[in-house]
Amino acid sequence: MAQPEPQAAPGRVLVMKFGGTSVADADKIRRVAARLVAAHLAGRRVVGVVSAMGHTTDGLVELAEQVSPRPHPREMDMLLSTGERITAALCAMAINDLGHHAVSLTGSQAGIVTDTVHTKAKIVEIRPRRISEALERGDIVLVAGFQGVSTAYDVTTLGRGGSDTTAVALAAALDGDCEIYTDVDGVFTADPRIVPTARKLRSVSPMEMLEMAGAGARVLQLRAVEFGRNHGVPIHVRSTFSDADGTWIREDGGMEDAIISGITHTTDEAYVTLTDVPDEPGTAASIFNAVAAAHINVDTIIQNAVTHGDADITFSVPIDDLELMTDTIEGLCADLGLHWRVIRDVAKVSMVGAGMKSNPGVAARMFQVLADRQINVRMIATSPIKVSCVIDRTKVGDAVTALHDAFRAELEVSADGAVGV
Ligand code: ADP
Ligand code: ASP
Ligand code: MG
Repeated sequence: MAQPEPQAAPGRVLVMKFGGTSVADADKIRRVAARLVAAHLAGRRVVGVVSAMGHTTDGLVELAEQVSPRPHPREMDMLLSTGERITAALCAMAINDLGHHAVSLTGSQAGIVTDTVHTKAKIVEIRPRRISEALERGDIVLVAGFQGVSTAYDVTTLGRGGSDTTAVALAAALDGDCEIYTDVDGVFTADPRIVPTARKLRSVSPMEMLEMAGAGARVLQLRAVEFGRNHGVPIHVRSTFSDADGTWIREDGGMEDAIISGITHTTDEAYVTLTDVPDEPGTAASIFNAVAAAHINVDTIIQNAVTHGDADITFSVPIDDLELMTDTIEGLCADLGLHWRVIRDVAKVSMVGAGMKSNPGVAARMFQVLADRQINVRMIATSPIKVSCVIDRTKVGDAVTALHDAFRAELEVSADGAVGV
């Protein structure tokens, strides 16, 4: 069931974002430059948002940790923001060499204003005056992704994968279209690097994509999907290395008859279990107020059923925030008389699909498939359109593959022809 693609109005702004693999070396940067020029020649007003080259950001994180065991977050942002700036400048040079005018801007110069939470800042406002002026002059504008300037005038970064959010936010501010170019052909029914038979999805609703991104499909940063949904920006995720159509994330993107759109997994979470939690009003509020004050994003929270006496509460924490969490929880547990432990050797596998709401039985089948593979389910969490199971980390590849096989018929409904990477 092919859907008509949204028509591009001539002269409309087009934001094109290229991820790390797409700009990994000089040749690839020249190819990205040519692609931006082609869009410009086709009559679009072009804004290129670029990531740091290849694994530059990982390299900078490692370097910081060699210099300082717990790098200061403000300085971390100064450091990490340089990766994207390098790519933006190089790409602008390559465009100039092709005979077109280009100008590169840092996040701050591009008018991306954020809150003051270093290393995972949220965009609070966009003042795109410089971008608009450059576009009026006929320039191609390159914006360093993943960064902004805080309301306290410091450089901030938007969390790993944050260039996606830069791109969607700029498309919203400039009333333009948004294309996310990456190293796979679109959003797949599972990570195509783990499941070679995964199929590309034609389109996905923002709600499903939110659940998929939140459950580990790192092809789009969660915040980018939120931004797109809140501002009504359709997102086209597609390959840097081909002209093929990718996956559309847009309001009419969900397939009515698709029970399941994707199977996702993450190994980036740890779980904290608090025991002896007093069965009193306000305890959970004190715990999660402290966690929120430390700017730690908790995804899943499970409290055991309390019939009488004390309870256990288990919640997920991004692995990167585990040290911060340890600091927070130590004080809290001492104050409230709780005990705590961290579970690290786990992964989460999730099934996402809008049709689950009206098709009971998906969870039961999922548990059966895992049981048949001798995979023990350690925790379960659900939303109306998602079922997640926490399992042993060593079993995650097996679990995703087995579920993809078992639900192949359901997944086919939303997929198009493309298979694997
Ligand atoms: P970029 O550097 O372009 O931002 P990322 O590495 O952040 O790229 O995201 C692309 C990667 O996301 C793919 O290489 C793929 O391994 C992974 N991925 C995980 N789940 C999915 C999925 N459901 N569909 C497509 N890609 C996925
Ligand atoms: N370079 C940053 C990262 O590796 C941001 C991005 O690529 O979107 O997370
Ligand atoms: Mg990314």
